[in-house]
Amino acid sequence: MPFASVSRPPSTTSVGRMIREGVRVRVWCDTCDAAFREVDLQLIAETMGTDFDLWGKATHCRLTEGCRGRNRFYHNARGYFCRMRH
Ligand SMILES: [Zn+2]
Repeated sequence: MPFASVSRPPSTTSVGRMIREGVRVRVWCDTCDAAFREVDLQLIAETMGTDFDLWGKATHCRLTEGCRGRNRFYHNARGYFCRMRH
């Protein structure tokens, strides 16, 4: 049995679904050593809509002033935080 490729947990397919299923999302920076930030999914749902999908998304660093890194999203649908991309 070959190692199954890591598939996307169905509970992560939209912001609304993550809220319903209690999935939490955090961002970590790939460059600076800033602590993670908990993502307010309710706020994203209100501004982007409940169908909005964070999968594969990244933003410029909002954790440290002047940092040129990228903030990447992680979900805990499997009970621990995993990157939100394949
Ligand atoms: Zn940073």
